[in-house]
Amino acid sequence: MRAAVLPALNQEMELRDDVEAIGPGPGEVRIRIAASGVCHSDISLQDGTLPHPVPAVPGHEGAGEVIAVGEGVNTVAPGDHVIISWVPACGRCRFCLGGQPNLCNAFLERNMSKPMFTSGGGPLFGYAGTGTFAEETVVASEAAIRIDPDVPYDVASLIGCGVMTGVGAALNTARVRPGSSVVVFGCGGVGVSVIQGARIAGAAEIVAVDLLPEKVELAQRFGSTHGATPQQLAAVQQEITGGAGFDYAFEVIGRPETIRSAYDATRRGGTTVVVGAGRMDAMVAFSAFELFYMEKKLLGCWYGSADVRTDFGRLLRFWRHGKLDLEGMITRRIDLSEVNEAFEACKKGEVIRSVIEFK
Ligand code: NAD
Ligand code: ZN
Ligand code: ZN
Repeated sequence: MRAAVLPALNQEMELRDDVEAIGPGPGEVRIRIAASGVCHSDISLQDGTLPHPVPAVPGHEGAGEVIAVGEGVNTVAPGDHVIISWVPACGRCRFCLGGQPNLCNAFLERNMSKPMFTSGGGPLFGYAGTGTFAEETVVASEAAIRIDPDVPYDVASLIGCGVMTGVGAALNTARVRPGSSVVVFGCGGVGVSVIQGARIAGAAEIVAVDLLPEKVELAQRFGSTHGATPQQLAAVQQEITGGAGFDYAFEVIGRPETIRSAYDATRRGGTTVVVGAGRMDAMVAFSAFELFYMEKKLLGCWYGSADVRTDFGRLLRFWRHGKLDLEGMITRRIDLSEVNEAFEACKKGEVIRSVIEFK
């Protein structure tokens, strides 16, 4: 089958047609991928920002049809339509039982050490245990979340990472209160999902911040009430909050400077949420005084603090009733052969989401 392969860090992806997905073994399912979004975290695999074994099939935001199930699988059957999740819940560990299933590590550890594919006789890893830039993939049954068959695959794929992370950051991680003021740094697929989550939560003001004025403009469609480039933010902050700062600030880029800017834009006692995925060695500085005196809550956000067993369905209900715009997030539809160009477009900030359609 066809798949995009990242042979080594900092290299272009190769389109190969001799790739095979291993399995399904007991507890696993084989999925024919129909659509996969391109998330910035795929670029972070390529450039080493996020450590992961290579060679690998990138892609971690996909949806498709179950075509085979391994021994003991009774949650899905061939013919079922599913969204693939890279943060499934095992249902048994202390995090799953303790109400934080997004912190379940049962699958991540296994996926980082076990190849999922072969090509030319050699093993290939699957990014984040999913590897959705391939015509077929095999994942643990917990990672295949069944959806109604009338949900289009392109729309469904986005829920697998960007939308779950962004909307979840607002609803689950921050629990944005109605009437709040919110600022969001970064208006890519994850950032506009945070904006949509804040809108669903009833935020009064939502400020979209991006280096690119076009992105700031585009964000209005998803619910921002104001927009600013980083240089314009101080004036908008003054206008909305009288200079005090926002109730909630979300960083959705993954850089120390913008994490610092998000903290600075948060009011005393407010909440800063770090959604962007930065490098392990990139440090952010805080004064020992401000951390206690300002009483800001600095929260990390892993996969929108999601419980995929219930949250995917919740997001699809928002979408069904016109409260979550998923179609509008797809700025480019591409073939798998165009995936390197899609990475370039994402790096330049030209797209909200590119979606690979498998015919
Ligand atoms: P993206 O590249 O599509 O969007 C990033 C946006 O930030 C672009 O519009 C870009 O113009 C803007 N930007 C870049 N530098 C800026 C700056 N200095 N100031 C203002 N704007 C700036 O990315 P995405 O797919 O939306 O992902 C966003 C981040 O979220 C990435 O770091 C990604 O790895 C991360 N992520 C985290 C999780 C999680 O679980 N926490 C999950 C998915 C993605
Ligand atoms: Zn992602
Ligand atoms: Zn678990």
